[in-house]
Amino acid sequence: MSENKTSPLLVIGAGIAGVTAALEAAEMGSEVVLVEESPSIGGRVLRINNYFPKLCPPSCGMEINTRRLERNPRIRVLTSSKITAAEKIGAGWKVTITTAPAYVTAACTACGDCEAACETTVPDPHNLGLCTVKAIRLPHLNAWPKRYVFDREAVGDAEAKRIAEACPVNAVDPSAVATSVTIEVGAVVVATGWRPYPIENLEELGGGRIDDVIANVHMERLASANGPTGGKILCPSSGQPPKRVAFVQCAGSRDVNHLNYCSGICCLASLKQATYVKEQLPEAEVTMYYIDRRTPGRNEDFLLKVAALDGVKLVKGKVGRIERNGGSVKLHVEDVENVRLIEAEADLVVLATGMVPNAVDDDLAIFTRKDDEGFVLDDLSSAVTVAGVARRPEDVAASVRDATGAAARAVIAAGGRS
Ligand SMILES: Cc1cc2nc3c(=O)[nH]c(=O)nc-3n(C[C@H](O)[C@H](O)[C@H](O)COP(=O)(O)OP(=O)(O)OC[C@H]3O[C@@H](n4cnc5c(N)ncnc54)[C@H](O)[C@@H]3O)c2cc1C
Repeated sequence: MSENKTSPLLVIGAGIAGVTAALEAAEMGSEVVLVEESPSIGGRVLRINNYFPKLCPPSCGMEINTRRLERNPRIRVLTSSKITAAEKIGAGWKVTITTAPAYVTAACTACGDCEAACETTVPDPHNLGLCTVKAIRLPHLNAWPKRYVFDREAVGDAEAKRIAEACPVNAVDPSAVATSVTIEVGAVVVATGWRPYPIENLEELGGGRIDDVIANVHMERLASANGPTGGKILCPSSGQPPKRVAFVQCAGSRDVNHLNYCSGICCLASLKQATYVKEQLPEAEVTMYYIDRRTPGRNEDFLLKVAALDGVKLVKGKVGRIERNGGSVKLHVEDVENVRLIEAEADLVVLATGMVPNAVDDDLAIFTRKDDEGFVLDDLSSAVTVAGVARRPEDVAASVRDATGAAARAVIAAGGRS
């Protein structure tokens, strides 16, 4: 066994991949520092309504993980934090971690008195800006740590003072400042995940131009009970339930003008979202326009199940253009099987946009070798390994498997226990 066995591991990003990597490494005996830039852990999956293929809520998996985290003294979790400097030293790294000002301290009991005293509202990041929330609030229902977050810049000094005074345990500090700590680590796991491809870039498909053209990530929030509509699937323009819903696959994916690659999950996500529509609006017509149906392995069963639902139609066709047509939306489609151009109408269109790696333009360049699309490559010679969508587009099950492997590689790279 190596002398270096006590070097902690650094895991960057606490989505499902980073949390899994941290837990697996800690349960193998390593000390772990888990750094997350958001105020709470969980990443993108906590914005999903239900997981395919079982359609269970993502909180199920995360609740188990937070219990494992709480029980494991080897993991130190730093939220609202980022790596602001890194230097290679010996086989490992010296890193500086900077934590944003703690306007709400760990003393917070999440009682909500501060929120009641706050008048200012801001776009809700958890709901992708589809609604507003108070400037001081719990980030979302399943937030861990269960601590309020304060958009201090959004409120004036007088209101900030009133908010602080409303807190019965003095946990609100409007004049908090950022703090930094420098540590040495034996290896790094990059698990920085993804963000959605912006629909505004898909102008020809109505993205950012037509209210009733939304992205798949928006559909997850519309269908969610703690989303902007309380879980009701409604057309943004009218506030009415749609009678016809169209899913447009490969929206900006496998396209040299946008993303070259397939995100691997979009067909399954749209099929899953078709079930959201049919459950809530059984009379609605759902049409999914696809180039290829990519539902590998056992997920093929899910495809067959959804395709068999009454009122669900799968059309092999490439949607080239979308425009407003009075109260509805018109799609221009190349119907591949019948070799003809068709026009179709819908009330709500969901663009199945892909996943862009956050690492594509982040400030971790010192650690990260990337491929042409911005996905991070393992570099074990530098004690850097990668987990989840930071490595390649994948679903939750694959991200978890991947993270387990990354944890083992990182433990070995750090000269840790085997
Ligand atoms: C519309 C849609 C629906 C989906 N539905 C499903 C589904 O039903 N089932 C399924 O299995 N998969 C689904 N997926 C895929 C799923 O979302 C991903 O597999 C999963 O999010 C991957 O987790 P991750 O931890 O790799 O990344 P993320 O969830 O993106 O987590 C990364 C974390 O890293 C943090 N971070 C980023 N940069 C930094 C930094 N520099 N420093 C510190 N922290 C940082 C982020 O804040 C985030 O918390 C869906 C995807 C989409 C687009």
